[in-house]
Amino acid sequence: MIKAITGTKDILPFDISKWRYLENVIREKMQSFNYKEIRTPVFEETALFSRGIGEATDIVSKEMYTFLDKGGTSLTLRPEMTASVGRAFIEHSLSAKQNLNKLFYIAPMFRQERPQAGRLRQFHQFGAEALGSDSPALDSEMIILAFDILKALGLNGLTVKVNSLGVPQSREAYKNVLKEYLSDKLNLLSEESRKRFYTNILRIFDSKEENDQEVMKNAPLLIDYLDQESLQHFEAVKKLLSCASVPFEVDPRLVRGLDYYTKTTFEIISGAVGSQSALCGGGRYDLLIEQLGGKPAPGVGFAAGIERILLACENENSLTIDGESLDLYIIRLDKSLQDKTFDLGLSFRRKNINTEFDYLDRSVKAQMREANRLNARYVIILGGEEYLNGQLILKNMSDGVQENISLEQLDYICSKLSKKGE
Ligand code: AMP
Repeated sequence: MIKAITGTKDILPFDISKWRYLENVIREKMQSFNYKEIRTPVFEETALFSRGIGEATDIVSKEMYTFLDKGGTSLTLRPEMTASVGRAFIEHSLSAKQNLNKLFYIAPMFRQERPQAGRLRQFHQFGAEALGSDSPALDSEMIILAFDILKALGLNGLTVKVNSLGVPQSREAYKNVLKEYLSDKLNLLSEESRKRFYTNILRIFDSKEENDQEVMKNAPLLIDYLDQESLQHFEAVKKLLSCASVPFEVDPRLVRGLDYYTKTTFEIISGAVGSQSALCGGGRYDLLIEQLGGKPAPGVGFAAGIERILLACENENSLTIDGESLDLYIIRLDKSLQDKTFDLGLSFRRKNINTEFDYLDRSVKAQMREANRLNARYVIILGGEEYLNGQLILKNMSDGVQENISLEQLDYICSKLSKKGE
């Protein structure tokens, strides 16, 4: 039997109401903050990600789904969205149309990670990117937007962590300080961290290895080496977060995995989802667009993992979603009325009334059971003496009240049915 690829998941009809609910909350919030949706292709030229995300990152060095197409071009399934949005921003000269572009997406991403709880190979992210302004107000707006969406989903137990990585000059100077600190401690580090010492030294802070953490406990911190401009920017971001009543903590060890960040970085962590606890991460990336070959444009954004958020919602029992219901089920008493049932059902469906009837030659009793199983608000009974008199029976399933209605009076039925919750 052919099965779904390890690390991928089917989203089945009974899970869809949660996804739809979450997507609606995201869209509503994005709209109130005036972000416009963007959709980009699932695959891109590999160079976009290696250049945009950085060769030394875990994503590019280990996790990309890369393949040659029949023309010999190296393509990659997108592992994240920022580089793709940056590419589209440059390609379509979006900055010429308006100075500030505020964009959002909800889309699948692909990373060849070791599958484990909270880590999939195809997963879904939503996120936002604001391109064209270096205002700290936008850094704060991103954090508030992400936080508000998670709160709107009923999540508590959230921790917002913020840090500043400064501009490249101050970061480079700091990297030398860190190198010096670590140079006589290399033998105490794990193999992975020793590798990172040469390729991506800041990431040693991310190591979960106890020995590494012990060494890093006393390491000099980037925040103490920040340039004046980054410090001021960071102060402004924090001030706006406080005004917005977003509780946050400064985590000077929060470096995040990607090369493109400058100044602000942040993560939102949930206490409700085991070891893969980051629901969302983001930051400012003022040099990315230039790095991708565009005219310099500052940017800031975040990405959040939908599967992990749904898991947190489940663990906190925060989503109360009404079960599926049906507006109308048509029961036919006699098989000879099959075509008439189809015809009648279609008339209601064309008036956007969510209607179902039998296709399986079921008995009247079984049709009634089906109407109950589908949670039908109303049932029409078609047949018998009423039908001979040009009538049908309309039954309200919540109070059991029945009415005889002329087959000519479909509009009357429609008006009754469209009054939801009656
Ligand atoms: P990143 O793009 O790595 O900063 O990830 C942003 C968010 O996407 C994370 O906080 C997770 O919620 C989610 N995420 C990242 N990788 C995966 C994965 N392999 N499986 C499920 N969710 C993920």
